[in-house]
Amino acid sequence: MGLIRKVVIALTILTALLGLILYSIWLWLGYEHIPNRVSNVESLKDASFDFIIVGAGTAGCVLANRLSADPNNSVLLIEAGDVFGPASIVPLLSTTIQQTRFDWAFRTTPQKYSSRGLINNQQFLPRGRGLGGSGQINYMLHFTGIKDDFDRWERLGAHDWNFERMKPYLDRLERGTDGVEEASEGHCQPELEDDEMFETTDEQPLLNMCSSQPSTTSTDMKHSIQPPSWHINPVDADENLLAKAFQDASSELGSSHDFRAARYNIRNGIRWSSYHGYLRPAFGRSNLQVLTNSVVQRVIFNNQNRAQAVIVQQTNAENFLTIRARQEVILSAGAFQTPQLLKLSGIGPAIELKRHGIPIVHDSPNVGQNYFDHLNMPLFVSINTTASVTVDKILNVLNLWNYLSEGTGIFSTTAVAGIGSPRLSKYGIILFGMGSVDEKALRHVSNLKQDAFRAHFPLYHNSSQEGFLFLNTCHQPKSRGAIYLRDRHADTHPFINPNYLKDKFDIECMSAAIRLAARTVETAPFRRMGAVIHWPKAKSCSNFGPFVEDFRTNKPSDRYLECILRESALTGHHPGGTTAIGLHSEAVVDNQLRVNGVSGLRVVDAGVFPAPVSGTPNSVVIAVAEKAADAILIAGR
Ligand SMILES: Cc1cc2nc3c(=O)[nH]c(=O)nc-3n(C[C@H](O)[C@H](O)[C@H](O)COP(=O)(O)OP(=O)(O)OC[C@H]3O[C@@H](n4cnc5c(N)ncnc54)[C@H](O)[C@@H]3O)c2cc1C
Repeated sequence: MGLIRKVVIALTILTALLGLILYSIWLWLGYEHIPNRVSNVESLKDASFDFIIVGAGTAGCVLANRLSADPNNSVLLIEAGDVFGPASIVPLLSTTIQQTRFDWAFRTTPQKYSSRGLINNQQFLPRGRGLGGSGQINYMLHFTGIKDDFDRWERLGAHDWNFERMKPYLDRLERGTDGVEEASEGHCQPELEDDEMFETTDEQPLLNMCSSQPSTTSTDMKHSIQPPSWHINPVDADENLLAKAFQDASSELGSSHDFRAARYNIRNGIRWSSYHGYLRPAFGRSNLQVLTNSVVQRVIFNNQNRAQAVIVQQTNAENFLTIRARQEVILSAGAFQTPQLLKLSGIGPAIELKRHGIPIVHDSPNVGQNYFDHLNMPLFVSINTTASVTVDKILNVLNLWNYLSEGTGIFSTTAVAGIGSPRLSKYGIILFGMGSVDEKALRHVSNLKQDAFRAHFPLYHNSSQEGFLFLNTCHQPKSRGAIYLRDRHADTHPFINPNYLKDKFDIECMSAAIRLAARTVETAPFRRMGAVIHWPKAKSCSNFGPFVEDFRTNKPSDRYLECILRESALTGHHPGGTTAIGLHSEAVVDNQLRVNGVSGLRVVDAGVFPAPVSGTPNSVVIAVAEKAADAILIAGR
């Protein structure tokens, strides 16, 4: 190599490193500056607030903005964690936050029907801990549900949460602040009956449920400083070969297939969570205070069962402090910790509360029940075309430079290129364009045993391997699990049992997704890329395949698919349902999200979903929180 070339490369590397350092400092300064942060909980000793919001996650950040937009409301937002570090905003680095101090790092109880290829049959369940919550560690995929998701909610007893009522909130998010997206892009899908089979014909007429007119919410609240903002950034299929092949494959599979390039909540290459879109614009409002590094231990009630205050403990402090709420306490601690907090506060199944010696405020048998999650089955596909993210490309300083200088390139997304499903089906596939995987990193976040990992990723040692994963998923799984208290402490992780794959329907549904992935790989756009599926050769499934015939036809047996699903399907990170809305007094919350059996207490987070949405839930959590904020503000007038 010539001297001049060496000097140019050295200078490029130096400039990139310098840029990275300056960029990190700039971000760090911006992140740390929270004008209304309460640094010492003792200063709140005799304070009281109209609203106390517990948890500054996806939902909590929305509520903090919307409730404090009215200067007459005083609002306290309490978060167990701190401000996330700069790595959280670089999309490709999302998984590096897992199992750091910004992750609660829950894990399931050993699973009976699934997770056999995972150490101790346990799934790792990351949850964000800090301002932004799980929205600050998630993969930023944007989706606002389909019509049937919300109509199902209504059928399950969530009166007023059907598609028609949710649409104004969903449309507002779909439009985004940039106006990049059309209102009809995301959730305008045909109706789907619960008992419908997995697929339909190509000729099936589609109902257009979307209005072309921009809609407004029932109350358009005035925001005193900056209004919230939401950004949607689609993968450009003209630039991303995998996204292009995915879209083109869909036309070959038939018009009933809806395959799209992925859409992210990313702005100029930077994560755009509800922390960015909602909480930060509210910084500086004198009626909003933000208390970080503080864990709410429980809610306390007066003689009439009215929520009066919360008990808080700041990290490293010995004392507990009681902070009073004049109007409402709102629990937004997420689908695992909100039911835990309710139980610690005396609202839950009497028998469980008695076992832990917790005084019963209200016997509510469904707190912590109805827990659902999506599962993803990874299927590795190698290609002979340069199109994917590889370990070598991540380590290439020019890619880092592209990101730092223009916010583009492989660092600017999480490598998910496309998402698709047959219309009117309950399953789908996600194209995750990661060709080579780092064994240590992936096992570290998935808990896969070494042999199970290598059965799935036979080419794991090749750091320049091109390829992708199809993540095969069931959108409407029927298995349900539960959350139980381990002890009486808010800091102790509860028992989390999702009962993955308990219901046989989920096996059939996920198998249908895998077969769709196999058909997609056989389409011309993927054949041109040299796509080959590597059917996992898991030892425990060797009696069922994959056989030579399966390799040739890509049609493995039902028993083989069931075996690999029970072996190594991984959490989709979408827990919900544990404090579901319902019509009956035994439901945890009513249709205004008020906790049944007490007053002055609401739940607003993914736990209130009565059933899953048919894709990623984060933007729907935001829509739910927006609708809840309207209800709270109207009630307070
Ligand atoms: C790894 C990962 C990837 C994901 N990818 C996507 C994706 O691509 N697209 C998508 O749409 N969704 C995705 N999700 C799901 C999505 O992020 C969640 O559904 C959503 O963030 C849930 O919001 P929430 O408000 O219910 O809870 P959270 O955002 O989890 O907020 C709960 C907050 O409460 C705080 N808290 C808990 N207990 C207490 C307490 N006792 N005191 C004080 N504070 C407390 C927590 O620290 C946290 O900040 C992903 C999730 C994960 C973990």
